[in-house]
Amino acid sequence: MEKLFSAEFPDIRENYGVICGNIEKAMALSNRRDKVKLMAVTKTVPPERVNFAVGLGIKLLGENRVQEYLEKRESYAPAEVHFIGSLQTNKVKYIIDKVSLIHSVDSLHLAQEIDRRAAQHGIVMDILAEINIGGEETKGGILSESAKSFCGELETLKNIRLRGLMTIPPAGCGEEVFARMQDLFEEIKAKRKGGLFDTLSMGMSGDYQTAIKHGATIVRIGSALFGQRKYNNK
Ligand SMILES: *Cc1c(COP(=O)(O)O)cnc(C)c1O
Repeated sequence: MEKLFSAEFPDIRENYGVICGNIEKAMALSNRRDKVKLMAVTKTVPPERVNFAVGLGIKLLGENRVQEYLEKRESYAPAEVHFIGSLQTNKVKYIIDKVSLIHSVDSLHLAQEIDRRAAQHGIVMDILAEINIGGEETKGGILSESAKSFCGELETLKNIRLRGLMTIPPAGCGEEVFARMQDLFEEIKAKRKGGLFDTLSMGMSGDYQTAIKHGATIVRIGSALFGQRKYNNK
């Protein structure tokens, strides 16, 4: 364990300080007294750097790709892990017992497979419904007009527990899109008959302060923490 935390990455330390300050400011500006969770998004980031962030106090990691996660997870320091990337139905079985929340549930078919695999493991899997709040054709997620009926369908599955909503707003969109997402979240929450519906996963490196202003409870931050991603050609 000692070794996992031995490397020093001054860039991450500095970025973490800036992000924490910005989160505090955004919380204060909107008079929020609840908590927002900072997730470190780890795609392409080597485990030593991820572990340094964990050592600084980030206790939640976000994984995008099943294969990459399976390769890296043995090297990670202890932390909670959520799956946030688009998830193919045939890969659910690889992560069902290795993450504590799946953010990217965008079809009933996928939800049914998560439900089935969770039942096999004797667990109830926490999930979020991914909403395509900008109505972009190229993006995954449920359109906002279908969000309520989709959430209703998810509730019929016994081995999943719908904990809230996730979204990736269009790049450079206006604040009103975040406000619409907050309204949708509150509306669905108000209509529910019971159960914990407490998670709004919204906000990335470029827009997390705006997201916090509009009720985000988890912000998912990659490049503002770890620096620009270096993709190789795999
Ligand atoms: C990559 C990614 C992020 C983080 O993006 P940054 O802009 O680097 O902070 C957040 N959410 C999802 C779903 C991602 O794929």
